[in-house]
Amino acid sequence: MARYIGPECRLCRRVGEKLMLKGERCFTPKCAVERRGTLPGDHGPSRRRRRVSDRGLQLKEKQKARFTYGVLERQFRKYFAEALRKPGVTGEMVFQLLERRLDNVVYRLGFADSRSQARQWVRHGFFTVNGHKCDIPSRLVRVGDAIGWKEGSTKLEHYKQVARDIKNKQVPGWLSLDLQTLAGRVAKLPGREDIASKINDQAIVAYYSR
Ligand code: SF4
Repeated sequence: MARYIGPECRLCRRVGEKLMLKGERCFTPKCAVERRGTLPGDHGPSRRRRRVSDRGLQLKEKQKARFTYGVLERQFRKYFAEALRKPGVTGEMVFQLLERRLDNVVYRLGFADSRSQARQWVRHGFFTVNGHKCDIPSRLVRVGDAIGWKEGSTKLEHYKQVARDIKNKQVPGWLSLDLQTLAGRVAKLPGREDIASKINDQAIVAYYSR
């Protein structure tokens, strides 16, 4: 599946908010939004942010969700269409689907510093789902699924660093983590309260409902 390969900080500057796409760097003064909060591009610094219409605000919320989870427009529309078919609040269902992506779960378990790094590790085949290697970042996990490390990947320096740092990470309530084996499990489906996000899901629903 295609993905955005440009600079991630540019996405934050485009929406004018910190989307925390680069792990530790986002907490340092090197953050591009803090260094220069202007719009990206050659003329960005001279362009003022204009008053935004309702439609513009809805678009911005949709883009924030898309950039945060690293999915392209076509894929995001598919999530929305699937959320519409599910019983429940559509906006919440969109986030539930996004959260259930394997790359997001790897990130949420603390196995990677950012979703883009998690996606890369998944593509490299470092992880298993229910004991079987899975290198598909968009795979949706289910309740009861076990996420572990593939044999061999535990010898990597990355694994050793995760083992050292994992105690400082916080795992959301819908996932559980065994600190000894570094294995995760999906305890329940994520609810809106489990998703630490400042994105307005109702604005996304309004955007696609026109
Ligand atoms: Fe966004 Fe992080 Fe880059 Fe700051 S450092 S602009 S929060 S991706």
